[in-house]
Amino acid sequence: MSGVGKGVVTASTGALLKECGFRVTALKIDPYINVDAGTMNPIEHGEVFVTKDGAETDQDMGNYERFLNQDIPRVNYMTTGAVYQTVIERERSLGYGGKTVEAVPHIPLEVIGRIKAAQKASDSDITLVEIGGTVGEYQNVLFLEAARMMRRDDPQNVIIVLVSYMPVPASLGEMKTKPTQYAVKALNEVGLFPDLIVARSTHSIDEVRKGKLGTNCGLKGEDVIAAPDVPSIYDVPALFRQQNVPERIMEKFGLPKRCPKHSAWDDFSKHIHRKGKPVKIGIVGKYFSTGDFVLGDVYLCVMEAIKHASWHLGAAPQIEWINSEAIEKKPKDIAKILKGLDGILIPGGFGNRGIEGKIMAIRYAREHKIPYFGLCYGMQLATVEVARHILGWNDANTTEIDKQTAHPVIHLMNEQEERMRNSSYGGTMRLGEYACVLRPGSLAKSLYGHEFVMERHRHRYEFNPMYREELEKAGLQCVGTSPDGKLVEIVEWKNHPFFLATQFHPEFLSRPFAPHPLFVGFVQAAMKNKKR
Ligand code: GLN
Repeated sequence: MSGVGKGVVTASTGALLKECGFRVTALKIDPYINVDAGTMNPIEHGEVFVTKDGAETDQDMGNYERFLNQDIPRVNYMTTGAVYQTVIERERSLGYGGKTVEAVPHIPLEVIGRIKAAQKASDSDITLVEIGGTVGEYQNVLFLEAARMMRRDDPQNVIIVLVSYMPVPASLGEMKTKPTQYAVKALNEVGLFPDLIVARSTHSIDEVRKGKLGTNCGLKGEDVIAAPDVPSIYDVPALFRQQNVPERIMEKFGLPKRCPKHSAWDDFSKHIHRKGKPVKIGIVGKYFSTGDFVLGDVYLCVMEAIKHASWHLGAAPQIEWINSEAIEKKPKDIAKILKGLDGILIPGGFGNRGIEGKIMAIRYAREHKIPYFGLCYGMQLATVEVARHILGWNDANTTEIDKQTAHPVIHLMNEQEERMRNSSYGGTMRLGEYACVLRPGSLAKSLYGHEFVMERHRHRYEFNPMYREELEKAGLQCVGTSPDGKLVEIVEWKNHPFFLATQFHPEFLSRPFAPHPLFVGFVQAAMKNKKR
């Protein structure tokens, strides 16, 4: 089922195989009709992950990048919508030479073609393919058919891993394997037989149940892997290593076993649980609830990036979610709401809900010298804040919110205007990696340690160059720009311990073993602020 942790299982398995010296890549297949994740409301799907080559994808792709510590390209992501789009376009251009095009085999063949293309692009020895959705439902059946066809054609080189949830009903206090037995039966019905079962649960599956599952599902007890809830997702590789997951996979592929004695993941897992000095970061954003549950996935990469930087600095991150609408409702209580925060971060966002509260938080951070880090919308709103409260342009705004403002300090990018007129929303933002040149002497330059950086973007609006001179004079320094100098990519406020905001999304590049320099700088400033 969704949310059970297939992404982390895939990413952790890949990380361990990579440590064994294999070239590894990972693909995600999402069953929905949306061509990509870009147009999906984060309330339903969590934060969008942007690849280096500009694809708007699922967060699992982010987990692959973080665990494998390598860029994962666009070809590694597909949805039902994207697959059908290609097949239909090919049919329209006579690509099937007049044949009847059918769901089977043409859809699975397109899926297999894409898997092979991704394998080729990364020249991987082992390619992990994560099929989203639930076994037995209608939506992913053609992807399972693709798996069956691949296995039929090349049985030595394809193995099937089932990630299954084992409930421990509170009233019983006992782990139940029956739902998994049914999941395996459903897999068998479509011609697939799992080689490994990953038993996701609140608890670790015991030997008795491993044996029971093995007997009922046709595999050895050692091929049932315990995957209980753990404090951090980064504990999973160590957990899998203890259970010889890479060795089990090599055995099934008939590969010589070659696992290193020592794993960086074991050390990392120990390191992150050491008692560090607490550092409290507030993410001022808009939060969503579905029914009675609040979704934290909306800012997943941002939270990961804060953790990576904090662990790197030996600190224990405490992330607080601040609802910007709460600030709007009670502006007088802002000091109370932001009390105790060592640093304030405003992440990316769209639309007008909660933005005045965000602007108030930025002003508070600027005036009280609390470290502030703005990401994308957080940079655009910082620009609005300075325009309003330093230059006195009370109506200053982004045209995303107010098209009539006399001071459009943030405005729609040129190339975006026509797209908006044609309601062309899917995949049309400024997406993916672009270069940025840093000003000598700036905080950004000193943190990166070099002058030229590549960062990932996802936006339609930009800093309006018409106001650049006045904003610079007011103290908002445009210290990072596109190489032609036209687009403002980073702003800094002078005479402040840390007030830096980026048009791009540095959070996409943060990795557990390679924290992002700007996040490191921000958390460091927050730690200093704590002392103060
Ligand atoms: N809404 C803003 C834009 O489109 C910011 C986007 C973002 O924060 N990712 O430019």
